[in-house]
Amino acid sequence: MSQSTSPTPRPSVLEIAAYVPGRSSGGTGVKQHKLSSNENPLGPSPAARAAFLDVANSLELYPDGGATLLREAIAAAYGLKPERIVCGNGSDELLSLIANAFLSPGDEAVFTEHAFLVYRIVTLAAGATPVVVAESDLTVDVDRILAAVTPKTRVVFLANPNNPTGSYTPVHEVRRLRESLPPGVLLVIDAAYAEYVRKNDYEAGIELVATREDTVMTRTFSKIHGLAGLRIGWAYAPAGVIDALHRIRGPFNVNAAAIAAGVAAIKDRAHQDRSVAHNETWLPRVTDAIRALGFGVPDSVGNFILIDFSTVPGADAAEADDFLCARGVVMRRVAAYGLPQMLRMTIGDQEANEASLAALAEYKDGLQ
Ligand code: PMP
Repeated sequence: MSQSTSPTPRPSVLEIAAYVPGRSSGGTGVKQHKLSSNENPLGPSPAARAAFLDVANSLELYPDGGATLLREAIAAAYGLKPERIVCGNGSDELLSLIANAFLSPGDEAVFTEHAFLVYRIVTLAAGATPVVVAESDLTVDVDRILAAVTPKTRVVFLANPNNPTGSYTPVHEVRRLRESLPPGVLLVIDAAYAEYVRKNDYEAGIELVATREDTVMTRTFSKIHGLAGLRIGWAYAPAGVIDALHRIRGPFNVNAAAIAAGVAAIKDRAHQDRSVAHNETWLPRVTDAIRALGFGVPDSVGNFILIDFSTVPGADAAEADDFLCARGVVMRRVAAYGLPQMLRMTIGDQEANEASLAALAEYKDGLQ
């Protein structure tokens, strides 16, 4: 009998620290306010929920592998061509497919120091080398990204807005980045939080994709559409990129419930508007109230904020996290993003926001 031996993964796989999602609950016996994963406090559109339930009548059938109805509904909502859209099992999957299709061992992928953690994971999983660029004041610095580009650079990931910092790179800067990158370097604009951006110049980013062969935008139904549990993402991309992603994606990578609910969600513009309006009301209120307690809160354009505990003598982010969790207020530690003295808080419903402010005030009052 031959001896059994553990197979060895690609060496770069062992450099990956597995993604740890935000906690889903805190202390026992208290009402839970989950503010750890930037989910929509309004939930999904009622029409999306109804469409999801309807799929229960045909679970034995495979979904349409091309997610045609979903791509058409997205295209109609944004004035795009459906053949330039590919859907995925969350935008995480699309980021992974992009890395697998365009990165090989020896290649470099560039992203910034506090960028979304998945860029590092998918780069290493593809056997390529992450090149991490410093930010300026928790904000993406296009010149620093450009300075990091080498002949080995194949992909640049830009989260816009970025998670967890909430920073925004204006479209003219994104355009400058694109125009200054060498031809053939793929720019991936990860726009998971695009709909929350108030400056309203976001759609110009779509225009940029439309006019280039080398730029992709990824979007998600997890945030504004409140469908994180169904895992729906989409990429808007030039024909060559679309072709590559279709070649390597799973044959049925978006499930039937996701397609049905996604179609209903994208058509429910009123729900999207309500979700944006809720954020526009509460983001400044929560930001101002936490700043008034003395904690630093960098400006955010997303549906979340960072709370900086280093600005209050004696405060500590990990200790505060335990304190808040014991009161049912569940935020997200961001030490893995290089921000050990900060917590990230999703803007929740009124009750969750008020519970967070009360618990933070109590924490601050208890400090020596
Ligand atoms: N990009 C960014 C910047 C994110 O914050 C997230 C969600 N945490 C994603 C992509 C992935 O979203 P999903 O896979 O749920 O579409």
